Amino acid sequence: MKTIGLIGGMSWESTLSYYKGINEGVKTSLGGLHSAKVALYSVDFAEIEKLQHQGEWDKTAEILSAAARSVEAGGADFFLICTNTMHKVAEAVEKSVAIPLVHIADATGELLVKDGIKRVGLLGTRFTMEQAFYKNRLSDKFGIDVVIPDETEQEVVHQVIYTELCLGQINNASRNQYLKIISSLHNQGAEAVILGCTEIALLVQQTHTTIPLYDTTEMHTQKAVKLAIVE
Ligand code: GLU
Repeated sequence: MKTIGLIGGMSWESTLSYYKGINEGVKTSLGGLHSAKVALYSVDFAEIEKLQHQGEWDKTAEILSAAARSVEAGGADFFLICTNTMHKVAEAVEKSVAIPLVHIADATGELLVKDGIKRVGLLGTRFTMEQAFYKNRLSDKFGIDVVIPDETEQEVVHQVIYTELCLGQINNASRNQYLKIISSLHNQGAEAVILGCTEIALLVQQTHTTIPLYDTTEMHTQKAVKLAIVE
């Protein structure tokens, strides 16, 4: 079995989902007492969040590159950045090590293509919804049309992530706001909606709506498990 490198802590609430999902995946595939081989480097999210909102992305890339070198030194065969947003600096981080990065948008795009989804809604931090690094990878590499919420809705989605979900707070009122936004994306022709922030599945699950949801944490962990158990 290969060793999975994880750069986590963004936030640690979602890194728990990664650790659990990866171990459950290995257990389901291999059975018995099998568990995943993981090298985890967990950052201090307060530092990252401050730099993000100051637009100091180069500094975040330095922190994540050092983390990537640590998981490489810790024996990782490949690595995951356990957040959609920080894929903004994925290229720089990937270049800092010899092991490959498993890109979260690729895990997403591959499944959407497999399921025949052509137009999809995207929820995430404002950085992920607004900027090109995530959306363009889906459209350029996978030919998927991406719909995002309007500005007011984006603000709601963004604030709930940083002031609730990343602090482990799950509120019914916020879930209802998210569900409204998911419906509005669906009304704009989105056949499905990507939960493009690794904490959103803590708030909204498929049981809450009939609109198909694609959870990036789940798709990313499942891809990692597949790669790890291939001999
Ligand atoms: N985990 C989140 C994501 O997937 C947000 C936290 C961050 O800014 O990294 O985008």
